[in-house]
Amino acid sequence: MPVEIPAANQGGAGADDTGEPCGDLIAGYDEDGPTAFECGAPVRHTETGYHCSRGHSYTYAVHREAEGWDYASDPVEAELLGHAGVRGVHPGDGRTWI
Ligand SMILES: [Zn+2]
Repeated sequence: MPVEIPAANQGGAGADDTGEPCGDLIAGYDEDGPTAFECGAPVRHTETGYHCSRGHSYTYAVHREAEGWDYASDPVEAELLGHAGVRGVHPGDGRTWI
């Protein structure tokens, strides 16, 4: 599956900025039923984190802290973060839990 990757960044020492596959898990089905597989879409790095062409994204901890939010994998964790004044965000799609 050929994928066009814009060569916008003038590379530094390593060229590991492009072509790196996204490792986010996606729920799916195979012949055995429900399963999960890695996204595999190309990842683009930014100043604050990275995102893939399918919409997965990751923001580095220092930027999450600066913006007053953090990843929460479930509503309980989101509530605990909330008690600390931190907004809990869904890791998959960036939505706020509460
Ligand atoms: Zn992805």
